[in-house]
Amino acid sequence: MFNLVLFGPPGSGKGTQSENIVTTYNLHHISTGDLLRDEVSRHTPLGTEAKKYMDQGMLVPDEVVIGMISSKIDETPDARGFVFDGFPRTRTQAEALDKLLEFKQTKIHLVLSLDVPEPELIKRLVSRGETSGRSDDTEEVITKRIKEYHLKTQPVANYYFGSGKLETVTGNHTVTDTFKALSKQINKYILPI
Ligand code: ADP
Repeated sequence: MFNLVLFGPPGSGKGTQSENIVTTYNLHHISTGDLLRDEVSRHTPLGTEAKKYMDQGMLVPDEVVIGMISSKIDETPDARGFVFDGFPRTRTQAEALDKLLEFKQTKIHLVLSLDVPEPELIKRLVSRGETSGRSDDTEEVITKRIKEYHLKTQPVANYYFGSGKLETVTGNHTVTDTFKALSKQINKYILPI
């Protein structure tokens, strides 16, 4: 198995690049943002609870997302590997993910961090908000999401840096060039299918 965490602030291109990566390398995409939005649209109890946080640009409580990830991993036991997108976002989530994977006798192999300057992030998110229909893509909520990122998520990079798994890639070039830079790192572990 090969398991990758795609790391970076809101608007850094994690979603777009995850799609490219999973098709090129035949991996399984797990996006906690997508999973949560799906719960919200189906009006499940989990979705109703999560929506309160998402609409304010705050992180959903750790136990909610960790439970969701755990059942998602169990759904595809034969996967070549997983791309985690938007998870882990706190140190508690990172530790829980290590435990879950250890239980499955695997681990996180690589963490690719997308680096994009903040003004560019805000520009991208505001323009996405004009078409996405996402209730959290307004300027006020975007600012809150970036704040939450600096406060709670950025420290997760140190967690992975400490175990030598973190590589930073510039996410400010074209989608194709960014993908090339990400692939160069992934190719050290697995090759495209
Ligand atoms: P972005 O990366 O652009 O903020 P996401 O789709 O990843 O978008 O996340 C949207 C929202 O969903 C977040 O602002 C947060 O409320 C919630 N969320 C997603 N993933 C997590 C997570 N791992 N832990 C806590 N909350 C999460």
